[in-house]
Amino acid sequence: MDGNKELELVAQEARVCTKCRLNLSRKNAVPGEGPANADLMFIGEGPGFHENEQGRPFVGAAGQFLEELLASIELRREQVFIGNVVKCRPPGNRDPQPDEIEACAPYLERQIRAINPKVIVTLGRYSMARFMPNARISAVHGQARVINGRMVVPLYHPAAALHQPSLRRVVEEDFSALPACIHQARETPAEIQEPPADPQQLNLF
Ligand code: URA
Ligand code: SF4
Repeated sequence: MDGNKELELVAQEARVCTKCRLNLSRKNAVPGEGPANADLMFIGEGPGFHENEQGRPFVGAAGQFLEELLASIELRREQVFIGNVVKCRPPGNRDPQPDEIEACAPYLERQIRAINPKVIVTLGRYSMARFMPNARISAVHGQARVINGRMVVPLYHPAAALHQPSLRRVVEEDFSALPACIHQARETPAEIQEPPADPQQLNLF
């Protein structure tokens, strides 16, 4: 199926989804946005207050910082895909719970398959944990790993960097290494970057 069509289908389904309790408290689901042909896919944690109001990812203070970080590597948000582990806002911005993350995982998995990005950038530890369950963000941030044939770079969450000024420089430095990661991923033979044909083999998470 055409990647953009599949992304729209995922968005439509998420907007009316009742697979976990987060549907009860959402105003707007936030499926994520960006073109299916994006090389870079950012995966955050979940919608916050402003995202829930607008139905769009990263539109609050963390989003503003993310846009600045993107500009520092000469990218605009329209050129990348920006999504989240859970598509509906946890009440009061609490952490998403394991059963909510599991319930929402098929949407994220379909988005990854539709986009087939060269590089996935995880923002924060919930997103990182989908790919590196045992990693500690303080130890692995900014380090690219190839996971199931795809490059994944775990970064601190931009909101964490806003709350903890010492992390700001760390995030900025990690971000500045992303162009080289994309370049390297582009050089990798296509058959390694392609997801396996059998969805059972995909095991993205
Ligand atoms: N934080 C996230 O993790 N995701 C958003 O969409 C906004 C803030
Ligand atoms: Fe459905 Fe995900 Fe929203 Fe839960 S968070 S209701 S699984 S779209």
